[in-house]
Parts: sequence; structure tokens; C-alpha cells
Amino acid sequence: MKSHSAPNQSLYQSLTDKLPRFLSRALRQTASLPSLPAVVMQVLEIARAPNASLKEYAGVIEHDPALTARLIAVANTAHHVRSPNPAITSLEATQRLGTDATLATVLSFALFKDEQTSDIALPTWQRAIASAAIASQLAQKCCPERLGQVFTAALLQDIGILALQLAYPEEAATLYTQRDLSHMELAKEERQRFGCDHTLIGAWLAAKWGLPESLVQMIDESHDTVFTDDPVALCVRFSGPLADAWLSPNAPQSFSTLLFELSSAQSEHVALLESLFHRMHQQIELLSDLLKLAVPLPIDSQAVLSEAKQLLFQHALAISARLEAQQQRFHKLEQQHDALLEHSRLDPLTQLANRAWLEEQLKERFAKCRQKKRTMSVVFIDLDHFKTLNDRYGHRVGDEVLQCFGKALLALVDASDVAGRYGGEEFLIIMPDETAQSALRLAQRIMTLLEKEAMAYHDTKPLYITVSIGIACLSDGVFESEHELIAAADQSMYYIKRSGRSGVSIYGQ
Ligand code: GH3
Ligand code: MG
Ligand code: MG
Repeated sequence: MKSHSAPNQSLYQSLTDKLPRFLSRALRQTASLPSLPAVVMQVLEIARAPNASLKEYAGVIEHDPALTARLIAVANTAHHVRSPNPAITSLEATQRLGTDATLATVLSFALFKDEQTSDIALPTWQRAIASAAIASQLAQKCCPERLGQVFTAALLQDIGILALQLAYPEEAATLYTQRDLSHMELAKEERQRFGCDHTLIGAWLAAKWGLPESLVQMIDESHDTVFTDDPVALCVRFSGPLADAWLSPNAPQSFSTLLFELSSAQSEHVALLESLFHRMHQQIELLSDLLKLAVPLPIDSQAVLSEAKQLLFQHALAISARLEAQQQRFHKLEQQHDALLEHSRLDPLTQLANRAWLEEQLKERFAKCRQKKRTMSVVFIDLDHFKTLNDRYGHRVGDEVLQCFGKALLALVDASDVAGRYGGEEFLIIMPDETAQSALRLAQRIMTLLEKEAMAYHDTKPLYITVSIGIACLSDGVFESEHELIAAADQSMYYIKRSGRSGVSIYGQ
């Protein structure tokens, strides 16, 4: 026989280094770790050679009659038969299976040779078989040329659990008999107890056996996301959760959850899953038969799938109902928020903008107009002799006047203007883009209206008021801030007060 390359020592070393120290020591001291018979070691050695021939495989396998018989049986299963004549020699069998599948078959036989049927080990092997069957079905769709590798990786992905069971029998007994834990929860528990989970331990064991690096890596990454572009990784990573659903006591529920998780992300995964169902039974049965291991097959795949879809549909309905309720709640909150906001901006008596909102708006518009080199005007209005009105007719009538004046203002200003109550009987109008002349026109309209319309009645007596108005326009002076602009309008208004009231004055003119 030719000399072949040695197992990848640096890979084994780097994985050993990744394990917690206590764990790698314990694992190396575990005499009963799953080991491979000599014939498998030889097959692996051939597999590592870059240009190993099928003849070499067949030559090694021939020396083990039991293995040869099983290899031929696998080669003749429906799955692999391409010619009407059955394979009868190990060479024919390896030719039919190809190197990957030969390796997978040899490995799985070697591992199942002993009766691995302890209470704890049984679920692990059942998951392994179901995973391998599922993975090879998936591989037929996604990457038929890598089927053998996918099969082997899926079969061995949980081999780390068996190693942990052998190294720590008591802890494993408590950990792995917790049937209600999902596979991922189990891995989390492992990380808490052992500092790493069974994927790393499995990869380490595979490297120790000298399995090809790609296989070691697939085991190591078997829990990574199924949303990957690599079809080989996809088949292996998808096989575990699918096997769990298949073997779960409530398969339809498990599948519907899985379908739901997948459908929210990648629809092609769902299609893959559906096509898988129709051949699963046969495949699992075949495998467990070949591997001499009982796998419970209580489920009717058609019924499970349709029930899972029904559940998924109900799930989607429930979610959309929840979403709608949430949206309604959100909409209501939004309305409440708007109302509150509106409320916080309005003066309760006149329903005009309050002082805080006026100042905020003025600041914003002042900055914008200055930046864009546009003009703006402010109109400051103070009611004349209002104290006297209050004193003579009462505060209630005073309030009525303020309210009525507020309404009148609102009717006179443009939509782009902001009218507000600045103080007790002081009002302010912000007029973006308007010159002093157009502010003057507005002021005159206000005064004309006040001449014509009473703002309140005392008994049946109409009460008319006058106002003093000051105008300031951004273009008519040097204003460093909005406060200076208001001060200018206020100043103009006081000029009117001093000169007898009821009139308009423009700052700087
Ligand atoms: P002037 O012509 O100089 O502006 O005289 P005036 O009386 O209008 O001004 P003054 O500042 O002396 O008095 C303003 C009055 O406005 C005093 C205050 O009681 C009254 N006032 C302020 N807020 C309200 C209010 O909400 N309702 C009523 N009814 N009166 C108010
Ligand atoms: Mg006044
Ligand atoms: Mg006043």
C-alpha cells in the first residue's frame, strides 16, 4: 500500500487548545471514548490522500467481511442503485457509492457496531440517524455531489455528546435526561457546566480520529445559522432542528414553529422542507435498519405537514390580529399625543398659540428667514384701557372680549402666519416672508373690524375696543435675535400708547 498523509496534527492541536483545560485533560483520560476500528482508520488514511482510488478503498474493506456485506447492502438500496444489476463485490459497492458515501457508510457502521442503546445514548443516536437521513435528502436537492460528506457530518454532529457522556457519566445522566430541553438549550447548559458545548468537543474528537478537516469544521459549526449561502453547511445545520421536530412528541407543533421561523426569513427553506417530507419515512426506516438501531416512526408525514401548515396559518392569523390591535393602540396613542401637544401649545382662553409656542415658532422662523435671506414681520397688539374695561364690566366680560378678539384675529391672519396671546391682553402675530407694508395692511384690517364689531355685550350694550399696534420688520433694522425684533415691535406699540392709543406704528419708519 502507498504511504498516505498523516492526520492533521495542527488542527487537532488547535481544537485541543480551544477546549477548557480541565475538559481536554478529562477527555484524553477517558479510555472508553468512541474509537474507530483499524479498518476504518485505514479507510480514513486513504481518504486523506489527494488521489486515492476506489480500488484502494475496496481493497481495505474486503478484509472485513461484515463491513463488506453492509457496504454492498447500502450500495444496493434504492437510493444508490443506478443499474439493474446489484453490486456484489466491495469494489462494485464503492464504485456505486463514490468515495464520500463509502466513507460515510464505513464510519457510521463502525460507530453503530457496539450496542449504543443506553438510556442516555439512545436519543442522541436517534437524532444522529434522523439528522443524517434528513441531511442526505436535503443534499440530493442542494448539493448532490457532496452528499456523502453531508451525510457523515450530520451523523457525527452530536458525537461530542457521547464523548461528554463517557467523560462525565453522572453529570451527563442529569443533563441529558432533561427531555424538555431543546437542543440549543442543552448546548447552553453544556457551556455553563463544561465551558464549551458538544460541537467543539465533537469537532475535537473528529480531528483526533483524523477525519478530513472539512468534516471537522462542519461538526464545529453545526449549530451556526441555517441562513447561509453554503449549501453543504445549510444541509448539515438544518438537519438537526428538523430531526428534533421529527422526533418531538408534538411533531406538527414543532414543524409549524420551524416553518414559521423559516418563512419569516427565507422562503426557499420552506419549499425545501416540504419536498423533504415525502421521502423522510422511507429514508429513516432504511437507515435505522441498516444501522441496526430502532428509531421510532410514529408519524404520518402527510398528516404532520398539513397539520403544521394549518397551525402556521393560525399562527400567522393570530399575529396579524395582534399586529392590528397594536396598530390601533398606537394610532390612539398618537392621537392622544397630538392632542396633548396641541393642548400644550394653545392658550386655553383664546385657543390661539400660547406664549411658549409663539416664542418657539418665532425663534425657528427668525433663524430660517435670516439664513435664507428672506424678510419677516411681527405685529404686537395691546388692548387699550383693558383694566378699565375689567373694572367697569367685570372680569367675565373682560374674558369674553379676549376670546372674541382671539377669534377675530384668527379669521384675519393667513394660514402661514402664527397668531398668539403673548400676555394678559397682549397679542402677537408672526408673519414669515411679509414686509412691514403687508403687516400694516393686516393691522388696518384689525382696526377696521374693531370699529365695526363689538367684542362683547354688557346687558344689551355693545362693547367696542381699540388697540395699539407696533410692527417690526426684519428688513427695517439690524436684529441679532428674535428678542430684538419683538422688542422693536413692543417699542413701536408703546409709541402709540404714548401718543394717545388706537393706532399703528412701524419700527424705523
Ligand atoms: P393700556 O391701554 O395702557 O394698555 O392699559 P391697560 O389697562 O390695557 O393695561 P394694564 O397693563 O394696566 O392692564 C392690563 C389688564 O389686563 C390688567 C389685568 O387684570 C387684565 N388682564 C390680564 N389678563 C387677563 C385675563 O385673562 N382676563 C381678564 N378679564 N383680564 C385680564
Ligand atoms: Mg392694555
Ligand atoms: Mg398691558
